[in-house]
Amino acid sequence: MRAILVQKLGGPEVLELTDLPRPSPKPGEVLIRVRAIGLNFADILSVRGEYLTRTRVPFIPGMEFSGTIEELGEGVEGLQPGQLVAALGGSGAFAEYATVPARAVLPVPPNLNAYEAAALPVSFYTAFFSLHTLGQAKVGETVLVQAAGGALGTASVQVAKAMGLGVIATASREEKLELARRLGADQAFLSGDPELEAKVRQATGQGVDLLMELVGGEGFAQSLRMLAPRGRLLVIGSASQQYASLRPVELMKKNLSVIGVWLVPFLSDPQAMLEATRFLAPLLAAGHAKPVVGRAFKLDQAAQAFEYVLSRASTGKVLLEP
Ligand code: NDP
Repeated sequence: MRAILVQKLGGPEVLELTDLPRPSPKPGEVLIRVRAIGLNFADILSVRGEYLTRTRVPFIPGMEFSGTIEELGEGVEGLQPGQLVAALGGSGAFAEYATVPARAVLPVPPNLNAYEAAALPVSFYTAFFSLHTLGQAKVGETVLVQAAGGALGTASVQVAKAMGLGVIATASREEKLELARRLGADQAFLSGDPELEAKVRQATGQGVDLLMELVGGEGFAQSLRMLAPRGRLLVIGSASQQYASLRPVELMKKNLSVIGVWLVPFLSDPQAMLEATRFLAPLLAAGHAKPVVGRAFKLDQAAQAFEYVLSRASTGKVLLEP
């Protein structure tokens, strides 16, 4: 099968299209014929060796994808060959076939196609765990979503609206703001607007209750200033790849919380995953939320796809097709 193999860490230039033997499912695993792969910022960081966990080479990147079940390993029940599913976790998705543990397989509502299914897992589950599980969002509160035209951003705007929150979206370009508004954002402002803080205060009174920090870096201090008393800053990403500094005493003045969010530990918490699926599955099945699919690249164009996300031109989830 064709797969992208990374033999040394680095930028997009280390992504090598290679022929490898098709994997076989071990007991408890499922072999899936990959239809579409969601490209995540985390994939770019893993290939560089700059992700939260250490990357061991050689490896096939890719932590989320959709596809049809080809073969069930011993002891797997409740899944059928030929069924369209999504999968979340680990690595190995940048390939024509991938094996995953059965618990990494997620149901796909019948109204979603293979592209939408591949764009679903990381963004929608992260949005849920951020806002509900960790952020303890309550109906009527307001959240500011950064990079709101991106993969996680577009999912978060929709999940937040479904939770009954007011949504302020920020992004670097007008077209991304337009997309966020179409998805339900109540207000949308350019992230570089010198009047951003004043506009957020005007829209909310005292500031936002929750802020999904995806960009980090210099803007982190501003994010804290935009929080209302008892506001929660959800540190989810650092797409700017810059460091930020924090004086902890600053948090005391308004009883603020800074909460780290990482999807990966939730993947081994079946109760948390079930709770998220119970919220997300009916929402998606009813069409009240939908993964936003951006540009799709062929597997042999993975390097261009990486460059495209890094260029900040992408909207929604960028996909790869084997
Ligand atoms: P996106 O589709 O959102 O693309 C990244 C976006 O980040 C860009 O579109 C851009 O939006 C913004 N950005 C700001 N500065 C830069 C920069 N210097 N280079 C590139 N992009 C920049 O990607 P994802 O949805 O995959 O991820 C968004 C963030 O969320 C990432 O930081 C990612 O690591 C994080 N994440 C974290 C998870 C977790 O478990 N904690 C899970 C999933 C994602 P704009 O132009 O509007 O600023």
